Amino acid sequence: MNFRIGQGYDVHKLVKGENLILGGIKINHTKGTIAHSDGDVLIHAIIDAILGSANLGDIGKLFPDTDSKYKNIDSKILLAETVKLLRNNNYEIENIDSTIVLQKPKIASHIFKMKEAISNVLCIEINKISIKATTTECLGLEGREEGISAQAICLVYKK
Ligand code: ZN
Repeated sequence: MNFRIGQGYDVHKLVKGENLILGGIKINHTKGTIAHSDGDVLIHAIIDAILGSANLGDIGKLFPDTDSKYKNIDSKILLAETVKLLRNNNYEIENIDSTIVLQKPKIASHIFKMKEAISNVLCIEINKISIKATTTECLGLEGREEGISAQAICLVYKK
């Protein structure tokens, strides 16, 4: 089989009073991410991992933040466009693994819903998506709750 791998990384700033959208779902918290889109770091990292796997560029090139049509857009729409592009290039996703790095809030109870939301958009089985979360023991930008970051890798194969 002709496999390829891609990785993605994203960071967004956390600000009081903003919505926190992670993995396609809204999470109740006192702070949320600010961005041109809905600020979903996990989906943005996954988009870059998918694009990287097939050498199709990056999220900033495909969905420029200078374009007003992407203002406050639901990142699930961007993810759907990304997987369409991947399939148009004759690739299919084998699996995705990801890690969300944040100090607060605790998100363990939300992970299944995130996997469900992402698998629905990508039209792949839920067990092909892994989402993990970790803190940085109060160190760095995530630990100081200045931002949330996410990393993802994606394995694809030629159809
Ligand atoms: Zn982003």
